[in-house]
Amino acid sequence: MTTTANETTLQPPVFFGEEYQEFARWVREFASQHVESYLPIAQQHDYPWDLSRAMGEAGLLGIGTSEKYGGMGRIGEEFTKTHLGIVHEELAEGNFYLAQMAYTCNLTAPLLERFLDPEVAEEWVPGIVSGDHIVALGLTEPGSGSDAAAMRANAKRVDGGWVLNGEKTSITFAPHAKGMITFVRAEATENNKGGVTAFLVSFDSDGVTRQTFADPGWKPLGRSAVFLDDVFVPDNRVIGGIGEGFRLVMSEFDYTRSVIGLMSTGVAKRAMKITESYAKNRQAFGKPIGAYQGLSFTLAEAATKLEAARWLSYRALSLADANESFTKEAAMVKWYATEVSIEALRTCIVAHGHTGYSEELPLQAMLRDVSGLEIGEGTPQIQKLVIARSLLGREVTG
Ligand SMILES: Cc1cc2nc3c(=O)[nH]c(=O)nc-3n(C[C@H](O)[C@H](O)[C@H](O)COP(=O)(O)OP(=O)(O)OC[C@H]3O[C@@H](n4cnc5c(N)ncnc54)[C@H](O)[C@@H]3O)c2cc1C
Repeated sequence: MTTTANETTLQPPVFFGEEYQEFARWVREFASQHVESYLPIAQQHDYPWDLSRAMGEAGLLGIGTSEKYGGMGRIGEEFTKTHLGIVHEELAEGNFYLAQMAYTCNLTAPLLERFLDPEVAEEWVPGIVSGDHIVALGLTEPGSGSDAAAMRANAKRVDGGWVLNGEKTSITFAPHAKGMITFVRAEATENNKGGVTAFLVSFDSDGVTRQTFADPGWKPLGRSAVFLDDVFVPDNRVIGGIGEGFRLVMSEFDYTRSVIGLMSTGVAKRAMKITESYAKNRQAFGKPIGAYQGLSFTLAEAATKLEAARWLSYRALSLADANESFTKEAAMVKWYATEVSIEALRTCIVAHGHTGYSEELPLQAMLRDVSGLEIGEGTPQIQKLVIARSLLGREVTG
């Protein structure tokens, strides 16, 4: 009988050892100081730079970046991807915006450190790690989202660099960012066959303009369309080589989808705690509402699904740490964890009666924030397509 690599992998243990628990306590301690600020921040459009710098000072934006750029250490050396999962879960349970900042900074800083010349990395990476600036990621276009290969933004070769044209849309952080890791199609040259390539575009370059969307959630982070009109990018801001852009994105997607799962269950776990307390105290018909199984069973179901989803997320990350394929598991996480988190949030809202509908509680804001996670980085349908492909093969699913 043959087994696949995944079947033979018994990691992770069904509990975390002391080292991970100690790490989780450290992150939780930081997050617990920012629980109350979640709702006011969710209602503002200003970027929470104070929070960003506080995270930088604590070291939470430098997990994956080496010490020479101000980071705490690299993945595969001082840290694992499981550590990053813990960061996202604990931060999101305290305050969703902490987790969102950690997500982007702990993705972009290590990428820039790895692929840029040291003098360019020196200009960009320390500021991300300290929380003084942020770099967005631009893949989506008006005509290509799920089907990223249909992108039209392009780069033409000129002396000393490239000239970029096109539109990137739906770019989180863009209203506040210093620049964007921008995926466009580079033309073929004598030395290179071209193809999708990542460029670091500074937002103060000539030819860059932005237009911000009015969104129901993620308000302080902002989301913009970014227009590139003959934007010159020097050769030393090509990230990972001409034609290597897709490989770069795809190599990160499995990781990002896995931690998005933990971000969403983290937010939902906070909502559950609020609701559990309410169900013990709110009286109806002479009893706490939690005494009615019509209500308590909805909480029991939500708690069970959230627990299943978070362990599926850690399973995906531990496969990553064992250098095994985790594409299928990451897609399962991205779809299932966001779905059960949204379901749990709706349960929590209904359990609060009319107060659940109000903006005085954080539940409506949490629902809007997790809804954004459900769509970004691939919709549920796209995740199911990835899972189906791994079960049935591309020759069947297309
Ligand atoms: C809050 C938020 C933040 C975002 N941040 C960023 C960011 O920072 N950077 C960035 O580049 N992008 C970002 N995005 C964009 C996001 O990645 C895209 O919205 C997503 O990939 C879907 O693309 P689309 O919106 O063009 O939808 P489409 O691809 O047009 O899909 C529309 C619908 O059709 C369905 N569909 C498409 N193809 C198939 C198929 N083969 N089978 C079944 N159904 C299918 C989809 O599931 C969806 O329901 C963000 C989006 C949101 C909501």
